[in-house]
Amino acid sequence: MSKLNPRQREAVHYISGPLLVLAGAGSGKTSVITRKIAYLVETCGIEARHIAAVTFTNKAAREMKERVTQLLPGKTKGLTVSTFHNLGMNIIRREHKQLGLKAGFSIFDDQDSRTLIKDLLLHNDEDSEHVDYVRNMISNWKNEMMLPAQAEASAVGPQEILAARAYEAYNTHLKAYNAVDFDDLIWTPVRLFEDHPDVLERWQRRIRYLLVDEYQDTNLSQYKLVRQLVGHRGALTVVGDDDQSIYAWRGARPENLEQLQVDFPSLKVVKLEQNYRSTSRILKAANTLIANNPHVFDKTLWSEMGLGDALRVVHTRNEDAECERVATEILDLHLRNNIPFKDFAVLYRGNHQARLLEVKLQSYQVPYKLSGGTSFFSRAEIKDLMGYLKVLVNRDDDNAFLRIINLPRREIGPTTLQKLGEYASERDVSLFDACEEMGLEQHLSKSAVEKLRRFTHWLHQKYRQCYEDDPIQAIKELIQDIDYEGWLFQNASSESVAEKRMQNVYFLVDSLRNTLERLQEDDPEAGIEEAIARLILLDLMDRQEEEDDSNRVQLMTLHASKGLEFPHVYLMGMEEELLPHRNSIENGDIEEERRLAYVGITRAKKTLTMTLARQRKQFGELIDCTASRFLDELPPEDLETEGHGEKNERVNQARGRATLNSLRNMFDDL
Ligand code: ATP
Ligand code: MG
Repeated sequence: MSKLNPRQREAVHYISGPLLVLAGAGSGKTSVITRKIAYLVETCGIEARHIAAVTFTNKAAREMKERVTQLLPGKTKGLTVSTFHNLGMNIIRREHKQLGLKAGFSIFDDQDSRTLIKDLLLHNDEDSEHVDYVRNMISNWKNEMMLPAQAEASAVGPQEILAARAYEAYNTHLKAYNAVDFDDLIWTPVRLFEDHPDVLERWQRRIRYLLVDEYQDTNLSQYKLVRQLVGHRGALTVVGDDDQSIYAWRGARPENLEQLQVDFPSLKVVKLEQNYRSTSRILKAANTLIANNPHVFDKTLWSEMGLGDALRVVHTRNEDAECERVATEILDLHLRNNIPFKDFAVLYRGNHQARLLEVKLQSYQVPYKLSGGTSFFSRAEIKDLMGYLKVLVNRDDDNAFLRIINLPRREIGPTTLQKLGEYASERDVSLFDACEEMGLEQHLSKSAVEKLRRFTHWLHQKYRQCYEDDPIQAIKELIQDIDYEGWLFQNASSESVAEKRMQNVYFLVDSLRNTLERLQEDDPEAGIEEAIARLILLDLMDRQEEEDDSNRVQLMTLHASKGLEFPHVYLMGMEEELLPHRNSIENGDIEEERRLAYVGITRAKKTLTMTLARQRKQFGELIDCTASRFLDELPPEDLETEGHGEKNERVNQARGRATLNSLRNMFDDL
């Protein structure tokens, strides 16, 4: 175990009041959090279940949990290490009665929210841009903690007023569906605590020490939640780096760092200066770049990791050559120098940049792991099954009800559904409950009513089986009852697609079983609805990959890379309009993009390679690209430029192919 430096030790041992650790990348901020958890448990005698540590992404939360488990083997029972959203969900889950929610409430993901907004907007011809606009407005209002009435009062212009009205309708529907959305996961607990000091007190007794990583990215409601939970005791450690604030677009407020000093006058500030991650050259480049941003806090960073290699800037002809170059070089280094694939990370500004790279890596048989692409939960088959599960545990979820009612076909036509909907809203009940009301018979034909009741009757059976018997078995039987496999094979474009989809369905069932088992270890009362809610929150894709052997090249966006580190980093697309992103150039918001570049550079431990293309396809057209201004801001003496001219690239391609051939021969020889 590494030895803490004196400043780190000071931060770990300081428990007499609130503490802020403010320091640059790789200086051991996250390490302070994990070591402090161990210190609180082992030396201060605080039980793990009274400690909570929060961070921003599932990946970061998982890494943190792993580090703590290594430090405290067998002693982490009940410890909370999670994302803000997960913590919020746990609070809502335990306090749902106070909040007027029924057990088994649904969590709407982004796509669910959009579908609902689309239905609510008066004209059916709304384009998706308008739906996006309303969705973002609602999200911003929620993050700024504004209720619909406040939103409407402060709205400027007809567009905003209409959005505020949609917000009101949206909230009413969520409530009727017994559902909350992602933003509610944070805000709802905050409001609950404001209105019910007794409930807050209970939570304050439960969470006796709170630690927050990546503090610069908290938004207003997250900040309030932190303040409420900590109360007057000041049992709080937060760590952050204002230079790594990259979520302003999601309402993050780096000024929360300064606000801390106002809200906690006794706040102690510790600054860390030694970087333990990167070579001096990488660190110097990062420092030089970020010096172009204005600074509230002064920070210095130095490293003893040696000078290291120069940073490489590789020019390529086009995006194809860029991806080819990255793929062949990784394969080459792997074979020649025995560097494991997992030591490489390829970072980029937008997910679309990964597509071509994936193709190249596949063609060279380089294993890779793509984080944060299309979410597992946005796949149709997963949405279908989740629809069933949601209705099973929350019969008020009309959205989910409508998704599954004719899947597979039950010959319940649109007119029937429309009448059912009218009847339900007249009676102010959910669609599910409406099916069972006697009065429905006056509005619908006998056969239509029968079909609907057959469906709800069957769901009741499954529900009983779920709660009185084995829930996982019940879900498996549900899938068989509806012959989902048959339906997939009828509807998929090919057999292999159908097979893949069915595998995803099995994977979901397996994950549910694992999650339920894990939840029950901490809380034997935990039921299937909790497992479902938990799963929705976790990025299942990540977990799927985590269970694989992880000797893979890591592909992810700059945003997703925060807090992580890799020996060899490739930063693709170092061009104007990509990094800095075109929207930010238009909005004059270069500073946030510079911080993003800073985050990318500081992920690298040993080598950093930045690539760019001279031409790139955009909206089907070939455009000329300009090198990113950030390259000009790096110290020229530490850069090594490569790849001017096409000859180099051809040599490189040939080298890649030769390596591949020798690899194949090697296998043939074995
Ligand atoms: P970021 O700003 O990117 O989130 P960070 O400040 O959280 O970075 P860590 O991830 O905690 O930094 O630490 C960076 C690396 O330095 C890790 O590999 C960690 O194990 C190592 N490290 C931290 N403190 C020490 C120490 N005192 N001695 C040796 N290595 C250390
Ligand atoms: Mg960190």
